[in-house]
Amino acid sequence: MSEILLDSQAFFHNLTFISHHLKKHSKSTKLALVLKDNAYGHGLEQIATLAREFGVEDVFVKTHYEAKIVQDFFGSITILYGAPQEPLAPHMAIAINNKEMLHSLPPGTKVELKVNAGMNRNGISPSELEEYIALITHRGLELFGVFSHNGYGDEVGEDFALGCENFCAIKDEVARMCADLGIALPRFHTLNSSGTLRSTHIDDDLVRVGIAAYGYLESDATPHIARQLKPVASLWADRISRKILPRGAKIGYGGKSVLESESVVSTYDVGYGDGFYRVNERKTLHTASGERILPRTSMDCFSCVSDAPRICVFDDALALAREFDTISYEVLTRLSPFIKRTIVRDKGE
Ligand SMILES: *Cc1c(COP(=O)(O)O)cnc(C)c1O
Repeated sequence: MSEILLDSQAFFHNLTFISHHLKKHSKSTKLALVLKDNAYGHGLEQIATLAREFGVEDVFVKTHYEAKIVQDFFGSITILYGAPQEPLAPHMAIAINNKEMLHSLPPGTKVELKVNAGMNRNGISPSELEEYIALITHRGLELFGVFSHNGYGDEVGEDFALGCENFCAIKDEVARMCADLGIALPRFHTLNSSGTLRSTHIDDDLVRVGIAAYGYLESDATPHIARQLKPVASLWADRISRKILPRGAKIGYGGKSVLESESVVSTYDVGYGDGFYRVNERKTLHTASGERILPRTSMDCFSCVSDAPRICVFDDALALAREFDTISYEVLTRLSPFIKRTIVRDKGE
C-alpha cells in the first residue's frame, strides 16, 4: 500500500536550524511547533513523537480533537479553532477570536487572545483589548497568551515591519492592563516560519513555526533560507498491475496517453482520492525518479512507463505545487490521513 515516509533526520535538521536562528537573534524565545491539520499532512502522532524527542514543549493544533491525540506529548497545547465541547485539560488553551466563546467557556479555562495586528483576518481589534481582558478576568478565565498573526512574512516590503510594530504596541498595552488588574502577564507570540527566519531581533516569548519545520519556506523575503531546509515527507506508491503494451496503446480514462513505442506500463496505488492532485492532459508531472505520471490519473491509481515495484511520487512538494499553481502547504495538507505514515530513523542503511 502507498506510504508516506518521514525523514526524522531532516526534521531534526530543520528544528536545529530554526533553534540556532533563535539563539542568535533572541534572548530566550522558545520554538513552538504548529501541528494543525494532521501536522501539515505528515501525521499528527508521528510528528508529535519526533517533536517531543527534540524537546519541543509547546504546540498549536487546529481542534480539540487534535489536541487530545497529542495530549500526553507536550507541556502546553493551544487549540486554534473551534469551541471545545467539554472542559479542557489544564495544559490546554483555546484561542479566542470572539466574545461568544468567552461566554461559553467554564471558569479556569486557559485562553489565548488573538488580536488583529494588520492582516484583517481573525482576531479582535486592539481597541477591544480592555473590554476582552476585563471580561476574561470577570469570568474567571486565565489569560494565558496574547498573540497575532503577521500576514506579510513572505512578502518583501514594509507591511511585515508594520505588523511587528503593531504587535509591540499591543504588548505594551496588555502589560499596562495586566498591571492595573493585578493579573499575571500572558505569553506573547506573533511570528510564523517566515516571520521568524527573517527577523534579527525577536523578543516574544515564543514563535509559532509550521512549514519550515517540515522543510519548506516559500518566502520572497528570504529566498536563501529555503535551500537550507530539508523536506521531511516523501510519498511512495506500490505497483498494482504491470503490462507490456504495444506502440499506439491508449492508457486510462479517455485514452489521453498514447504509447510511442512498446513499453512496460505499471499502475501505482495513489490517486486523487488519496489527496494527490488529479493529473489531466494539460498537466506535466514526473515522479521523483523522473517517470512521467501519465494523464489522466484516477481516484486510486496512476500509470507510468516503469517496471519498478515501488515508486516515489514526490520527495519535494514544490514541483507539484508549481504545476498546480499552489504552495507546498496545500500539497502536504491534502494528503489523506488514511495513508500510512512511517518514521525513517536512519536513511541509507
Ligand atoms: C499555521 C499557523 C502558523 C504557522 O505558519 P507557518 O507559515 O507554517 O510557519 C502560525 N500561527 C498560526 C496562527 C497559524 O495558523
